[in-house]
Amino acid sequence: MSPELSIAEEQPCPGTSHWRDLHDRVMMPNYAPLSMVPARGQGAWLWDDAGNRYLDFAGGIAVSALGHANPELVEALANQARKLWHVSNILTNQPALELARKLIDATFADKVFFANSGSEANEAALKLARRVAQDRHAEDKYEILAFENAFHGRTFFTVSVGGQAKYSQGFGPNPPGISHLPYNHSQAVLEWFEKHGDRACAVILEPCQGEGGVTPATREFVDTIRDCCERYNALLILDEVQTGMGRSGALYLHEKLGVVPDILTTAKALGCGFPISATLTTDEVAEHLAVGTHGSTFGGNPMACAVAGKVIDIINTPEILNNVDQRSEQLVAGLDDISRRYHLFTEIRGIGLLLGCVLVEQYAEKARDLMTLCNECGLLTLVAGPGVLRLAPPLNISESEIAEGLARMEEAVARFVQSAEPSS
Ligand SMILES: *Cc1c(COP(=O)(O)O)cnc(C)c1O
Repeated sequence: MSPELSIAEEQPCPGTSHWRDLHDRVMMPNYAPLSMVPARGQGAWLWDDAGNRYLDFAGGIAVSALGHANPELVEALANQARKLWHVSNILTNQPALELARKLIDATFADKVFFANSGSEANEAALKLARRVAQDRHAEDKYEILAFENAFHGRTFFTVSVGGQAKYSQGFGPNPPGISHLPYNHSQAVLEWFEKHGDRACAVILEPCQGEGGVTPATREFVDTIRDCCERYNALLILDEVQTGMGRSGALYLHEKLGVVPDILTTAKALGCGFPISATLTTDEVAEHLAVGTHGSTFGGNPMACAVAGKVIDIINTPEILNNVDQRSEQLVAGLDDISRRYHLFTEIRGIGLLLGCVLVEQYAEKARDLMTLCNECGLLTLVAGPGVLRLAPPLNISESEIAEGLARMEEAVARFVQSAEPSS
């Protein structure tokens, strides 16, 4: 370990917080949070209540795309908070309409439905696709094609459509009419459509799987799916909950893939931490979501929409999108360098500032151990499955902050390689 990486004077001491102990006593046990409990944030940094500072390459799971306590977002929220919080959907509101207009102007879409989470945006997309197929075609045209390792949310429908059995099993019978195929396997898609195409209602996929391992779709795979959807009158739903809002260096990743969906879902970074999601589609599809067919009490609430409107103004600019490309290059180069010297990763994959570092075979189950060590070295990271360390720093992160993150990562990696000596 090189001596010039002296971050020792700033070595966090996690585990001191009584808050983490309280968690285990008062919260349902479905989460296992790290020992550090953040007390405040600023930009790419978080502080715990002992004053330890952490560089945040997790971003609340690819949400805090403009960093913590972004002054422009704080102002947008505070201004709206003084005016109007909530009206429900028995009334419309100005921030929601302005946000809808901005999303439409920036994408293929003509119409928007607002909800509060990625799951709800996908739930709406899937219900809408089923409704379209019933209205236009036949009662039995309800098959949804999804992919192994996909993640689309935690409601019962979306978790059933997701491709990870460990999340969807153990809750009784799943909703019927859902198939899963291997991701990036065009031949399997062609064969499925030959057999089931007449009953196909929609295909849903992430253009880069996030939770499932940070695996980008190939252009050929997406083209094949788009083609099949045309031929068999099925809708293409792109779940850009994680890849959207600038994460890829484009506002939405499908722009880079050159494919246009029928329905697009977006959430996570849309509110940069204020809960909001949107389901976007064309006029022809939208008309099937007639009055009363779907709804949400909080969806499109003025506070969330005021924040998201400002988020789009900031993110959908060359300044931010170019920074994503440049910082991505810098981060990948630094990770490659660490990997070479410590023989750690088989590849660094992903899009823009959503990166997956795939651990070599001997560490294939140890991503969480590495994440914990990163945390101890003052760097917050994520995992995507047992063998992939996932990074999602803010899109406006600086060159020196990326360099600092890499230094902290190297410190963690050195400890990791030492503590995780292969058993053979
Ligand atoms: C996070 C995520 C979801 C679920 O979003 P929630 O806000 O947790 O409901 C759905 N799809 C993808 C691709 C995601 O990354």
